[in-house]
Amino acid sequence: MSERPVRPFVQQDDAFRWSGVELRTYKEEGAAPYRDVTRQTLFSRADMRGELRYFEIAAAGHSTLERHRHAHAVMVLRGRGEVLVGEQVHAVDAFDLVTIPPLTWHQFRAAPDAPLGFLCMVDAERDRPQLPDADALARLRANPVVAAFLAGSYTPR
Ligand code: MN
Repeated sequence: MSERPVRPFVQQDDAFRWSGVELRTYKEEGAAPYRDVTRQTLFSRADMRGELRYFEIAAAGHSTLERHRHAHAVMVLRGRGEVLVGEQVHAVDAFDLVTIPPLTWHQFRAAPDAPLGFLCMVDAERDRPQLPDADALARLRANPVVAAFLAGSYTPR
């Protein structure tokens, strides 16, 4: 839990950058399960069960393909992209809502020429994400729509 003092008002200094909120940049690593993703935690309080974060995926970037017991409630705020939820791929842009149910494979991809920024509400206490093993990946790829998404082929709509 954050022990930072409560600040009743936080200004947006720059587009999608909030004053005094740490910008966490995920770095690409060997397996590179994500690419070009930043996170800002906007609300986190010991007396609330939820946290609200703002994620931004740069153009052509993507989040980790993962699943976990906790759910996500997402509102897109910026740009456009696609999201995989289970076996479904949805094109998303500003103000679309996405719910990721428990134990459902999910991944966000920004469009090739636009970022994808979104609010994500989660339980403050949550389990660690699981990554797909080879069998899970094979099952996902059995669906051609999902296979195309995982291969990074973006379908503009
Ligand atoms: Mn997740």
